This record gives sequence, C-alpha cells and structure tokens, in this order.
Amino acid sequence: MNHAIRVHEHGGPEKLVWEELPKPEPKPGEVRIRQHAVGLNYIDVYFRTGLYKAPSMPVTIGMEGAGEVDAVGDGVTELKVGDRVAYAGALGAYAEYRCAPAEKLVKIPDGIDYTQAAAMMLQGMTAQFLVMRTYAVKKGDTILVHAAAGGVGSILVQWAKHLGATVIGVVSTAEKAALIRDLGADHALLTSDNIPAKVKEITGGAMLPVVYDSVGKDTFITSLDCLRPFGLMITYGNASGPVTTDLGVLAAKGSLYVTRPTLNTYTAKREDLVATANDLFAAVTSGAVRIAVNQTFPLKDAAEAHRALESRKTTGSTVLLP
Ligand code: NDP
Repeated sequence: MNHAIRVHEHGGPEKLVWEELPKPEPKPGEVRIRQHAVGLNYIDVYFRTGLYKAPSMPVTIGMEGAGEVDAVGDGVTELKVGDRVAYAGALGAYAEYRCAPAEKLVKIPDGIDYTQAAAMMLQGMTAQFLVMRTYAVKKGDTILVHAAAGGVGSILVQWAKHLGATVIGVVSTAEKAALIRDLGADHALLTSDNIPAKVKEITGGAMLPVVYDSVGKDTFITSLDCLRPFGLMITYGNASGPVTTDLGVLAAKGSLYVTRPTLNTYTAKREDLVATANDLFAAVTSGAVRIAVNQTFPLKDAAEAHRALESRKTTGSTVLLP
C-alpha cells in the first residue's frame, strides 16, 4: 500500500489530493525508499501553482525526503536495503514510498535523524552553495539576507556568521526579528523599514558587496539599492513573484552584477552533490549550523502546511510526516 499527495490541476492548496497508489518498483539505477520524513519547500508551491512546470500531470510534488532503502533496482552497487538515505531535487517526494535514482541520494550520517535530514537537504545545501560558491563569504564582509527567519534564510544567517560576516537580516515581524537575533544576526531589519537607508547607516555609507534575495519581485530594486558599485545581487527565489525588471537598472545603480542560481546546477555533478552534502553534514554535526524544525504536519495535511508557508506563518524548516 502507498499513499501520495498529487496535483491533477494547478491552483491553490486545495489542489493537493491525498491518493492511494501502487507501491512503485525501482527501475535500473533506482532504489525504492520507505520515507520517514519529507521536506516542505517553497518550490513545492511553484509546482502546485504552475509557476514551475512538471514534465507530466498528474504530478506527485515535493523535492526532498529521507528514509530507508526498501528495494534496489538493477545496477545499483553503492546502496543496499536498510541504508538510511536523503535527497533534495528529485520530484515526487510527497509519498510514503517513492523510487529515486541512486545517484541523487546520499547516506545520512549517524547522529542525524530522518526529520532533521529531510528538513535540511534542500535548504541547507542551498545555503552552502550560496555562501561558499555563488559568493564566498569571508570575515569582514557585511551581507544582507531577506526572509532571514525562513528555511534557507535561517541557515544562511548562521553559516555566514560562522564564516565571520556581519549579517543584516530582513523579516516581516518583531517575533521573527527576535528569532534571527538568536541565530546570530547582528542587525534585524523589518520589511517595513527603509532598508537601503538602514544599510547606509550600518555600513557608514560603504553599502554591501552582496545581497541574498529569495523574495523576488517585491524586493529586487530595494536589494540593488543596498549594493555598492560592482556589488553582486543574488536573486535565488520568487516568494513574492518572479523578477521582470529591465537589466538597464544594473547600469544605473553602479555596474552591478546579478545571478539567478539554482541548487540543481550547483549539484548536477555527483561529486558536487556529495561534497555539498558532506559540508552541510559537517556544519550541522559540529554545531556551526542548527536546523530548526519549527513545524511538522502529517503528509496527508500538506495543504495546511502550504497555507502556513504561503501566509508567512512558518519559521525555520517544516517537515511532512508520511
Ligand atoms: P521560507 O521559509 O523562506 O518562506 C518564505 C518566506 O519569504 C516567508 O516566510 C516570508 O518571510 C518571505 N516572504 C516575503 N514575501 C513573501 C510573500 N509575498 N509571500 C510569501 N512569503 C514571503 O521558504 P524556503 O526556505 O523554502 O525558501 C526560501 C526561498 O528560497 C524561496 O523563494 C525558494 O524558492 C528559494 N529557494 C531557491 C533555491 C534555489 O536553488 N535557487 C533552493 C531553495 C530555495 P517574512 O515574513 O519574514 O518576510
């Protein structure tokens, strides 16, 4: 017996349907996973609404999960039944059982449980490449992180602090401001603040080398206004809608750079996936980064979890339990 949340037509959370399906059989190169925990991510909303298109419909949404290998397909040599595995970036996660290519999976180290693993693979590996590769954060940098109390945001704040940066976080409420101060943010700004003016004050007019922006449409121009000449705008998400601004604005605001990175590209090669995951596991087991699972929902109630995420009620990571 297997159950999954599927989307037959795009739309609101009510389009998430809990269905009984056959247990899938692994194809060559795949394993079947009995999932113990599934990560909730903003990308799941984009696949539900149709902003991002699945290859076919109906689709079992969800990109991230953790569980034990339950069956092994032909040609898989590195995994066996009973192995504890986790993944990010493989569509089809909102299910009790799923098959996934072995090359997309990593083994979960001892000391990390399934819930923690499902909470951190996608958001944590994203934070890793953002602070280590898209822009290598170093001691002395002052950086700005939007949605700093969110899943990716709260990991970014901690990781950048660990690397020695001064971190300015932006959040929508006083409660979230207190939360990010606890995570180590040096400055907690509110979305209602004049953010470029505050950044000017904090940096003594120097402004920032980099901004991490996952909000998209609503914050794009504000973010550019926080950068110094030649600064780097990292726009990595669309929580408020996609950015459509003309690139001429980069010239007007000081020969700025902009990048739109994805975890998919940064972990496309197996060696990059393994290195990124290992770096994340090390950051978590050393205590440099704490994964806060602040909400859990039964998987069948995924619609409720989507409502909470979209109405900005969640903080840290959220896990769905099959
Ligand atoms: P979050 O937990 O960060 O939730 C989204 C947060 O965005 C909210 O809590 C809210 O924080 C803020 N927000 C601002 N404007 C809006 C709005 N109009 N509607 C809803 N929320 C808004 O989610 P995730 O950690 O899962 O993802 C964060 C972002 O990172 C997403 O945009 C996601 O697409 C992106 N992402 C990109 C990846 C990549 O490879 N490029 C990989 C992983 C995530 P507040 O109330 O404080 O403003």
